[in-house]
Amino acid sequence: MMNVTLLIPILLGWLAGLFINYVSDVLPLTRRFSQHTCPECQTPFPSADYVTLRACRNCGKSRSLRTWLVQILTTFAFVYFWLFPSKALGIPLGMLVIIYFGVITVIDLEHRLILHPTSLVGAVLGLIVGTYIHSRINNSVVLGVEKSLLGGLFGFGVMFLLYQFGTLVARFRARKMQAAGQADDEEEALGGGDVYLAGVLGLMLGWPFIWDAILLGVLLGGLISFLFIAALLVRRRYSSDALMTFIPYGPYFIIGAFYKLFGS
Ligand SMILES: [Zn+2]
Repeated sequence: MMNVTLLIPILLGWLAGLFINYVSDVLPLTRRFSQHTCPECQTPFPSADYVTLRACRNCGKSRSLRTWLVQILTTFAFVYFWLFPSKALGIPLGMLVIIYFGVITVIDLEHRLILHPTSLVGAVLGLIVGTYIHSRINNSVVLGVEKSLLGGLFGFGVMFLLYQFGTLVARFRARKMQAAGQADDEEEALGGGDVYLAGVLGLMLGWPFIWDAILLGVLLGGLISFLFIAALLVRRRYSSDALMTFIPYGPYFIIGAFYKLFGS
C-alpha cells in the first residue's frame, strides 16, 4: 500500500518539473517569462496544452525527450528527498535547491550558458541556504552569514583566477594558431558563467564546504575529460586539439554541491 502522503511530493515534484521545463524553454531564448512557442513551427502553445505536455496542435511535433526526463527525474527526486530529507537543508529548502539545480543544469547542458538572472536569483537563494546551514552549525546567525559570504567569495575568487588563467592559455593558443595560418576558433577553456555559478554554490555551501564541492567538481570534470580523450586515443581520432576541448564545469560543480548538500 502506497502511503497517501506520498501524493504531496509526487504532485509538488511534477509541478516543479513543469516549472524547470518552462524556465529552461523560454529564458535562454527570450530572457524573460514569455509564452512558450513550439520549437519546430514557433506557434505559441496554449497554456493548457503546455502544462499537459501535449504535442503542438499546428505541426504535430511532440514534446522533447528532455521535457519528459525533467518531469520524471524531478518527481523522483522530490519523492526520494521527502522520504530521506537532506540533514543539512530539510525538506522545503531542499526542494528549492533541487529546482534551482534543475534549471541551471538543463540550460547549461543545452546552451552552454549560465544566465545572469539565474545567477542573481541563485545568489539570494545561496545566501539563505548557506546562512541556514551555518547558523545551525555555529548556533549563531551572524556566523552563519559570515560563513556563507566567505564561501561565496572563495568560490567566485578561485574560479575567477582559473578563468583568467584559461583566458591566457586561450590567447596563447590563438596566437599560435594565427602564426600557423589557422583561424582562431574562439574556444574558451572555462566559461565565464562558471565563475558566477561557483560564487552562488559558495554562498549556498559556505566555507569550508565549497572547497570540497569545487575539488570534487574539478576532479570529476577532469576524470570524464580524461576518459573522453582515452576513448579518442583508442579509436585513433586523437589530435592535440582534443586536449583543449571545452570542459563545461558547471554540471560537475553542481554534482559536487549536490553531493555535499544531499549526500550526508
Ligand atoms: Zn509546432
